[in-house]
Amino acid sequence: MDNRRMRELEEMCIQEDPPFCQAACPLGMDGRGLCSDLAAGTVDKARAKVEEGLPLPLLLCRICDEPCRTACPKGRSGDAISMALLERYSLENGKAPRKRPSFLSPRTDRIALVGSGLAAMAALESLRAKRYLPQVYIPDGDLAAQLREDKRLPRDLLDETLERLLEGLNVVTESPSLEELSEFGGVVIADESPLRYPGPTDDVTFATEVTGLFSLPLPSGSPSTEARRGLEAVLSLERHLQGASLESGRTKKTDRNTRLKAPEDDTPSKATVPRGETYSSEEATAEAARCLLCQCLICHPWCLYLQEYGGSPRKYIRTYHNNLIINKGNRTANRMIDSCTLCGLCAEVCPTGLDVGQASLESRRKMVETGHMPPSHHDYPLRDMASALEETDFLLDPTGGSPEWLFFPGCQLGASEPRWVSESYRYLTDRLESVALWVSCCGAPARWGGREALYMDVMDLWIERWEGLGRPKVVTACSTCHGLLKERLPEGTAVTLWETMDKLGLPEEGDVSAETVTVSDPCTARDDRTAQEAVRNLLRRRGLALEEHPRSGRTTECCGFGGLVFSANPDLAKRSATRRVQEAGHPMVVSCAMCRELYSRTGHPTWHILELLLSPEGKAPSPKPFPGWSARRENRKRLKADMTSGTVPKEPSESLVMDEKLRQNLDDRWIIEEEILKVIEEAQSGGPRLRRKDSDVYLAYSVLSERTLWVEYSPEGDRWRIHDSYSHRMTIQEVTR
Ligand code: SF4
Ligand code: SF4
Ligand code: SF4
Repeated sequence: MDNRRMRELEEMCIQEDPPFCQAACPLGMDGRGLCSDLAAGTVDKARAKVEEGLPLPLLLCRICDEPCRTACPKGRSGDAISMALLERYSLENGKAPRKRPSFLSPRTDRIALVGSGLAAMAALESLRAKRYLPQVYIPDGDLAAQLREDKRLPRDLLDETLERLLEGLNVVTESPSLEELSEFGGVVIADESPLRYPGPTDDVTFATEVTGLFSLPLPSGSPSTEARRGLEAVLSLERHLQGASLESGRTKKTDRNTRLKAPEDDTPSKATVPRGETYSSEEATAEAARCLLCQCLICHPWCLYLQEYGGSPRKYIRTYHNNLIINKGNRTANRMIDSCTLCGLCAEVCPTGLDVGQASLESRRKMVETGHMPPSHHDYPLRDMASALEETDFLLDPTGGSPEWLFFPGCQLGASEPRWVSESYRYLTDRLESVALWVSCCGAPARWGGREALYMDVMDLWIERWEGLGRPKVVTACSTCHGLLKERLPEGTAVTLWETMDKLGLPEEGDVSAETVTVSDPCTARDDRTAQEAVRNLLRRRGLALEEHPRSGRTTECCGFGGLVFSANPDLAKRSATRRVQEAGHPMVVSCAMCRELYSRTGHPTWHILELLLSPEGKAPSPKPFPGWSARRENRKRLKADMTSGTVPKEPSESLVMDEKLRQNLDDRWIIEEEILKVIEEAQSGGPRLRRKDSDVYLAYSVLSERTLWVEYSPEGDRWRIHDSYSHRMTIQEVTR
């Protein structure tokens, strides 16, 4: 992910866009922050925000025209938030922020301010804050002239303000001539005096054709706009004095926009009306609490991963990028990058369609490319993929090379239960002419792990073999395989087993009676409405009453297997599965073998759809428990042997004895029995082993691909008792003394 791509993705996340009130306020007042502070009772912080956000705050909060109210979504069906009243409450009740003493002397630039009114006063306040001492021309004699007619502004407040603004300045109560003004290094004209610059002025900078002369347009009638104009004129004048660009980074305030979407489901409410002139503490809190704190984090409640690491996806993308470009120091976000299931749910719910999963995947590819992908994150799934491609891959083609149909169930279905593959194949051969069966892996673990080149090799080989079979139509039983194959096969070539069964008829007739079941769609089928409907049709036809999972169809979630999170962040994967089963009202039915495994592992009764479709009429069978990773590997071998009339291999579990706790513990760490047996067999036939003193317990190791696996064992009859096993990535170097 390069800088350009990062910015492109970051820009898609609107979480940092301003709330509606702030976008509408010419001064950009942080209304959301103000409400949040007041609702939390932190009035001092609220006051600091108002003082920072508004010029002449004590005046403005009394007379502001509140354009924020027009934009506030609370106003759509009830009352918008009373922002000006909240500002005033904060100013009158919060402690004044401590001012840092300034030891800097005033600036010596010769500048002038001409005019009166709110814009002139705001400009003067800003100039003084920047340590300028302008010459002030007030042609009508009163800087606050127009404001005196407004009864909302107490006379003493105006007088105090003027005294503060004009203190120590040279004030002339006459109109200056243009010649006189030409002697100044910079001038702001802010009223309707005859001096108003007659030529064109810039809408944003108020620059005139005379360098250093900035002239404001006729008063707008909007106090907030006037105050804003005063500030913009001062910014122009300052840039002019510094020789900086007047335009850089500036847009017309009214152009500032927000891409936020107003919430649909807000409860209308009435504004809190103050009993007196201003709010009491309770009234201010009540009014502030009505604020929706508008921001976009729509994706958060949907995704445990986004909740896990906190902050907006914008922050995630920045973190991914920083993690990739770091030269020195630790890459602390590696696990974070590998903990996204790549499920695409965020893109589905996000108003701009931002797919954090895509950013995570691109980052993984970069990590692999630059050698920074921690090998442990995806070690087991990649080993498992290699085993599925090399040891248990088989093709059964009764047509001798030109089948019309190819059943490709993937590698996980037979690992869960070999019978689901063999019986589905029998079902297809009973109903279709010339069907071949190919059990293998589509390469998804390589793709999810960021090993795109490896994935492309697997997929290219797949396509080559499919072409060698005469390009048959493909029936899939795994939504991940289905999605990946559809990327490469001509349209309409791949169909799911569920659509096929829905068309050709149920494998077994009659009802399987079960209580209501919750249907859960796999995340890789979120876009596949046809497959989702076929699953539901089939279940109904078997007499089952269905309930939808609260998050189903396009907004279904991942079980924790996707993106290899079950391996990179097992704890998060378990919590994802647990949250999902807890939200299901009933035992679940799924059409993905890995969803079934991960939900079953939580203890929640979960059927694979084939468990129900292939059962004879009658009571539904009890859902199978999770078989364990070792047994899944054995299941694949058994399937291959059964289907190809090969010898059914002896299962490692027949040769090993260990207590259930240890078996579970090893399985959880993907130390599988087949590999344990391999280490023992090597040691027993002359490989390295150590013997514990005065016992028959041996410690042996073997280097299996990139890991060293250690096994502590002792003989027990004609089997081996396993005391412990562990693995690491250090290389053991044998030294001969
Ligand atoms: S839904 Fe999430 S990713 Fe999309 S804009 Fe909102 S915060 Fe950003
Ligand atoms: S609800 Fe609150 S944050 Fe949203 S626009 Fe209104 S005042 Fe601003
Ligand atoms: S792809 Fe899925 S897991 Fe990743 S951030 Fe989006 S919703 Fe969350």
